Amino acid sequence: MSVSEFSLIERYFAAHRFQRSDVALGIGDDCALLLPPTGQQLATTVDTLVSGVHFFADADPEGVGHKALAVNLSDLAAMGATPAWATLALTLPQANEQWLAAFCRGMFALADRHGVQLIGGDTTHGPITVITLQAHGFVPPGWALRRDGAKPGDGLYVTGTPGDAGLALAAAFGKATVAASHENYIRARLERPEPRIAEGLALRGVASAAIDVSDGLAQDLGHILERSRVGARLEVERLPLSPALAASLDREAAVVTALTGGDDYELCFAVPPERISQLEGSVAKWSCRHTRIGVITAKPGLQLARANGSAFDLEQRGYEHFG
Ligand code: ADP
Ligand code: MG
Repeated sequence: MSVSEFSLIERYFAAHRFQRSDVALGIGDDCALLLPPTGQQLATTVDTLVSGVHFFADADPEGVGHKALAVNLSDLAAMGATPAWATLALTLPQANEQWLAAFCRGMFALADRHGVQLIGGDTTHGPITVITLQAHGFVPPGWALRRDGAKPGDGLYVTGTPGDAGLALAAAFGKATVAASHENYIRARLERPEPRIAEGLALRGVASAAIDVSDGLAQDLGHILERSRVGARLEVERLPLSPALAASLDREAAVVTALTGGDDYELCFAVPPERISQLEGSVAKWSCRHTRIGVITAKPGLQLARANGSAFDLEQRGYEHFG
């Protein structure tokens, strides 16, 4: 490690003083030393963001720092885990301190809000910016929200308003026009996704299966269906469209975006009929809306239905089969 790397780590990563009681030794030695709570399972996840692939090279670095952590916390949320620790492997083409300072502001603001401590990492030089962030959390044995527990008859739900990040991407590539009054909202939905941590915790013991929507609602729901060996009937008119999405695209295109747009980081989950009252009792404390969009079926595959009962054909609109 070069002297300049050492001072960067000192200045930006070690200087942030937030100390959890379950971290015996944080940044500064060869390893962090941790005290995992007895009787809990450790939930671990990792995601990589590559400049030019997962974020624009000139994207606001504060947003990039937020998102690098947010996408990982979203995985913990989808598992019903309480977030605790993070590690960060950072490859940078140059030591741009302004970029790094803003990146850390975004990352630590979100980390502090969720009580997450950065406990270590690696800092290297490379041709482009690559951010690999790992997050760890805890969940009591048997309480994790897995993908394989959905049963026919379970209600199918989604948090928030899927499709907003997809709209923001379409607008960035000049494929959609968004009114100025909606611009800030959709940019925030793409660049500053809010991991649904509290909602994931509230779904412990309530949801039979859950996933976070990162690759599009239809595709990610497909993972639940496959792993649970069930199908689903999704009523497209029930999809909660944000005012920004509804105003920017015609109805059909908005529905397609809500079903296929990526980067939403909402939760899609199933709830058995006998636990729906428990769900409704807990949602008052949620920071986002939740919407029942359909039902789990014994018949495999995803059926997209209109209110009049006819099929909504995604493939006809140029989308590949999503399984
Ligand atoms: P080593 O060479 O033994 O792996 P390093 O010199 O790479 O250790 O790192 C020194 C300390 O700084 C370690 O505790 C490491 O976890 C931490 N660290 C390095 N880079 C980062 C980073 N990007 N974020 C957080 N901690 C980091
Ligand atoms: Mg190292």
